[in-house]
Amino acid sequence: MLTIKPHHFVDILTALGEGRREYAPHPYGHALHSVAATILANPDVTLQIELGADDICHPCRHNIGNRCDDTIDTSYRPNAPASKQDWNLRIDRRWCQRLALAQGNRLTARQLCQRIRERAGDIADIYREIPEDRTAQRQAKLEMGIAMY
Ligand code: SF4
Repeated sequence: MLTIKPHHFVDILTALGEGRREYAPHPYGHALHSVAATILANPDVTLQIELGADDICHPCRHNIGNRCDDTIDTSYRPNAPASKQDWNLRIDRRWCQRLALAQGNRLTARQLCQRIRERAGDIADIYREIPEDRTAQRQAKLEMGIAMY
C-alpha cells in the first residue's frame, strides 16, 4: 500500500500522457521515482489518500515534521500562496471534493484512475490560479494519461 496526495497521482497520470514512464531520483530526495514506478507497473496497488506528507514526501529534504517547507513559483500564479504546503493542500482539497474522496480512503490505482476519468470534468476550476492555457494543456495530457493507464 502507498499513501498519496491526490494531486501527486494526477501528476503521474499527466506525465504518463506526455510519455513519461521512467523517473530518475530527484535532488530533493523524494520518492516520486519509486512511487511512480510502482503505480505504473501495478494498477492494482492499493493507494490511501493522504492530504499531508505522503510516501513521496517522506524521504524529501523539504519534509520537515510532515510539513513541506518548500515554496512555489508564483510568477505565473500570483493568487497562489507561496508556501508549497498551503498550495498543495488547496489543490488536494479541491481534487478530493471533485472526486468524492477523503483522507484515509483506500482504493486501487486503477480505481482512482477510473474515478478521475468519470468525475474530473473540466479541471480549470481546480487550478483556477493558473492561466487557462496552461491548464488546458494539463487537461489534454491528463486525459491522454488516463487512456494510457
Ligand atoms: S510536496 Fe514538499 S515535501 Fe512533498 S515531495 Fe514535494 S517538495 Fe518534498
